[in-house]
Amino acid sequence: MKIAVVRESHPGEQRVALVPESCEKLIGAGFNVAIESGAGAGAGHDDAAYRAVDAQIETDPQALVRSADILLKVNCPTNDPGRPEVDWIRPGTVVVASLMPLRHPPAMDALAKRGALAFSTDAIPRTTRAQAMDTLSSMSSISGYKGVLLAAVELPKYLPMLSSAAGTVFPASVFVIGAAVAGLQAIATAKRLGAMVTATDVRPEVKEQVESVGARYVGIELAEDASAGGGYAAELSPEDQQRQRELLIDEVARSDVVITTALIGGVFAPKIITREMVRSMRPGSIIVDLAADGGGNCEVSVPGETVDLNGVRIMAPVNLAATMPEHASLLFSRNLTQFISTFSDEGVFEVDLEDEIQAGCLITKDAEVVHERTRDALARENAP
Ligand code: NAD
Repeated sequence: MKIAVVRESHPGEQRVALVPESCEKLIGAGFNVAIESGAGAGAGHDDAAYRAVDAQIETDPQALVRSADILLKVNCPTNDPGRPEVDWIRPGTVVVASLMPLRHPPAMDALAKRGALAFSTDAIPRTTRAQAMDTLSSMSSISGYKGVLLAAVELPKYLPMLSSAAGTVFPASVFVIGAAVAGLQAIATAKRLGAMVTATDVRPEVKEQVESVGARYVGIELAEDASAGGGYAAELSPEDQQRQRELLIDEVARSDVVITTALIGGVFAPKIITREMVRSMRPGSIIVDLAADGGGNCEVSVPGETVDLNGVRIMAPVNLAATMPEHASLLFSRNLTQFISTFSDEGVFEVDLEDEIQAGCLITKDAEVVHERTRDALARENAP
C-alpha cells in the first residue's frame, strides 16, 4: 500500500505526520511511503533526509493524495479552495490524523461524503494497549511543559527560591487546574524549575497522582460524580461549580502563575476562572490558559492572544505543541507508525472493526459519519 504525507498548511503549523525514522520502519514493513516536498522542513527534516531512507519525494500534492491508499496527517485534511485536500482523496482511502471530530463536525461530514475511511488519533481509547498510539497524550504533554516555560519567561520574578549576597527571594507559587496529561506535565515542569506548586481537579483519583509529582492537592468533595467515563470529566453540577469557585477564589488570588488545562469529555473547556478572580491576582501575575483550543478555562481568555487585565496577563496559546515541532513531530510520527504497524501485515493495513482501538477511533466509513458522539454533534449543528 502507498502511504502519503503532505505538508501541513494550517497557519503556524510546523509539524509533519511522519519523520524519516518512521518512514524507514514503514518501508521496512512493506509499505511505499511518499512525502510532499518540503513537508518535514518545519520539523527539521529536509527532502534529502527522507530520500536517504528511500521515501519518495513528490512535488504535486494533488497527485500525491490521489495516489494514496493511506493518507497520514497531523491535522484534518483541508478543504480550502487553494488546497482542497478533501476533494483529492479517493473513496476508500484510509485517513489517519488528529481530526478533533467533536470540534469540527462539518469537516467530518465532508470526509464522509468523500468516502474516506477516517480514523482520528485523538479518539483512540485511553487503554494500556493503545498508549503508544495516543497522539493526544504526546501533544498534551508538550503543551503542559511549554505552558510553564511561557509563564516563566513572562513572570517578573524567579520561579525558584534563590539566596544571594543581596538576600533571599522566595519561590513563586504556581497553581495548576486540571491534572491529567497536560496538568501533570505542567506540575512536574514547574517543580523542576523550583516553584511551589498546588493543583486541583474534579476526579478524586488525581490527588495521589498530583502528590506523586510533588505538588500539594486541593479539591472539593463533589456532591455529584463528575466522571464522564474513560477517565474524562463531565461538567460539574451548578452547586459543585459554586463550591469549586469558593475554593479557587483564595488559591488563585495567592498564585503568581495559574496554568489551566481543564476539559470536559476531553473536548470543551469549562469556564473556571472568573473575571473577578483575575482582578484579585497581584499585578505581574500570569495565567496560561492551556485549554484555549477548547474555548479556554478563563472568562478573560481570547484564544491565540494575550490579554492584560489590571497588570495580570492572561495568555491563551492555541496549538502549543506546534511550537515545539521537532519533538512534537517525532512523537506524533511514532504514534501513527504504531497505529499503522499494529494493524498491518506485509505492507497492507487491515481494517478490523472488531478491534476496540479501531472501532473507538473510526469516524467515517461508507460515506457516513459512524462515530456516535460526532454524529450527535453533527445532528446538533444541522438542527434548525
Ligand atoms: P482532559 O484533557 O480531558 O482533561 C484535563 C483534566 O481536566 C482532567 O483531569 C479533568 O478531570 C480535569 N477537569 C475537568 N473539569 C474540571 C474542573 N471543572 N475543574 C478542575 N479540573 C477539571 O484529560 P486527558 O489528559 O485527555 O486525560 C483524560 C483521561 O485519560 C485521564 O483520566 C487520564 O489519566 C487518562 N489517560 C489514560 C491513558 C492511558 O491509559 N493510555 C493515557 C492518557 C490519559
